[in-house]
Amino acid sequence: MPITNCKRCGRMYNRVGRDICPNCVREEDLMLTEIRNFLRKNKLANIAEVAEGTHVEYEIIVDMIRDGRLILRNHPNMSYACERCGKPTQSGRFCGRCTQELARSLSAASAELREKNAQTKPGKGFYSRNDVGRLD
Ligand SMILES: [Zn+2]
Ligand SMILES: [Zn+2]
Repeated sequence: MPITNCKRCGRMYNRVGRDICPNCVREEDLMLTEIRNFLRKNKLANIAEVAEGTHVEYEIIVDMIRDGRLILRNHPNMSYACERCGKPTQSGRFCGRCTQELARSLSAASAELREKNAQTKPGKGFYSRNDVGRLD
């Protein structure tokens, strides 16, 4: 069983999936319930207002949204800055546009890589060993 320090409170615990300890998971669940209740009553609240109303730190709320633990459907003001361009976003680390751009440059890069591999691979040879010493 891997023992690790809780990312949130620093206590040692047996890691089972999450990077925070069971105590903190419980606390986060309580916070989530509180945030959801607050949002039900204040549909147009922004993150700062929710932080104030629920006493949950702004950064924690953003983390919860980023991780997909807090899902926002009808709360247009619950947005935070995209990590890439700073424009408001409501899920993940990047705004919709950056997500698209990143996906595009990623697939362009992998297409380039495929092309390079195709060029350097010496046809359909027979390998008795696992390409020893080949780094590409
Ligand atoms: Zn903890
Ligand atoms: Zn962006």
